Amino acid sequence: MTDAKIEALVIRALTEPAKLGAIAGANDLTTEQLREWVEAYRDAGTERLRALSARQGRLTVAMFSTQPYDRKFFEGALAGARSLHVDFFRERLTPKTADMAQGYDAICAFVNDRLDAPVLEALARRGVRAVALRCAGFNNLDLDVAKDLGLIVTRVPGYSPEAPAEHAVALMLALNRKLIRSHRRVAEGNFALQGLLGFNLHLTTVGIIGTGQIGTALARILHGFGCRILAYDPQPNDDCRTLGVEYVELDELLDQSQVISLHCPLNESTRYLIDSATIAKMPKGVMLINTGRGALIDTSAVIQGLKTGQIGYLGLDVYEQEEELFFEDRSFEIITDDVFQRLLTFPNVMITGHQGFFTRQALSAIAESVVTNLLAIEANQPAPDAIQY
Ligand code: NAD
Repeated sequence: MTDAKIEALVIRALTEPAKLGAIAGANDLTTEQLREWVEAYRDAGTERLRALSARQGRLTVAMFSTQPYDRKFFEGALAGARSLHVDFFRERLTPKTADMAQGYDAICAFVNDRLDAPVLEALARRGVRAVALRCAGFNNLDLDVAKDLGLIVTRVPGYSPEAPAEHAVALMLALNRKLIRSHRRVAEGNFALQGLLGFNLHLTTVGIIGTGQIGTALARILHGFGCRILAYDPQPNDDCRTLGVEYVELDELLDQSQVISLHCPLNESTRYLIDSATIAKMPKGVMLINTGRGALIDTSAVIQGLKTGQIGYLGLDVYEQEEELFFEDRSFEIITDDVFQRLLTFPNVMITGHQGFFTRQALSAIAESVVTNLLAIEANQPAPDAIQY
């Protein structure tokens, strides 16, 4: 048995002393052998042991892909949650870093952590029994495998949907009124308006694809602008209808909307929803906004659309290959993704690095929601936001 495995068993035995015999039996050990190892750890009196005993009796959580801001908001939310022990890791969860979950009961993951079959299997082998996503989308998780492994998976379905909705509007306005270019001109003492002409959002037809929480929040904002709002969603909702949103078929939305904004989840039926065929159905010069997930769009097809002028404006907060780029300072690195670099050369493209969720209110709501779910798991209660298999 490897040292890591022994340590994992000792941690479990320390965490659940009443189950020491069962843990030993399940791992072909005698109770005596396991007790000896536990005592050896106790006698060692090392930092490691202090860390282990700090976890004793608590649900231990390895949180991946954390930045200082995650830590700040989670430390706030964890203040009263004494039955949880969370370790913050900067590393993204991948097959290479899955080892770091050894001995933890749960992991907490973000949008670009990998939760495919090899990683989920590696986690389960290391004793992890729950995956708490700190995001709404779960396209990065293999649900069938998680189910087969008996993992509890929770997500954060309804945190501050206004955060990404308002970011979509920020992209629309900044592209339309050419705010970056305009600010640069003014900073250089150039007050010419040539090239900065925009259009009123008032009475413009905007198509929203996906009217769940975020799409509905966007509809509320655009209603305030006086837009005509079309929507496509297999499950229309009454809140949108009350706002005067007109539900239409996808083709009609594509045909009639001068601005199109994507708010559906990424799954096998929505991958590359925007490709050369759907782009051809849009009016020439359309504004396309994607704050959903990168792979809703075939980026190469969109680049072709930008070259021909079919797409007049492109606002992205997400990118299909973002996991190798986003959330880190790469300003001193050579970016080798030529598709991404090509996008940056267009004057009518604006890209932000997946910051739609990034408001104080949303981070606070995410942390509170994840902690609530983890506390339920710790208490062996149904987690409120568990994905139902
Ligand atoms: P939600 O589950 O409340 O709503 C999704 C809606 O999409 C549902 O109404 C569903 O019926 C609809 N839908 C499903 N398939 C569709 C299809 N083929 N065509 C059109 N509509 C379809 O989710 P939400 O909270 O509104 O979030 C939407 C997505 O936004 C998430 O899945 C996530 O990918 C993304 N998101 C991005 C950020 C960010 O920071 N940029 C933040 C949060 C969420």
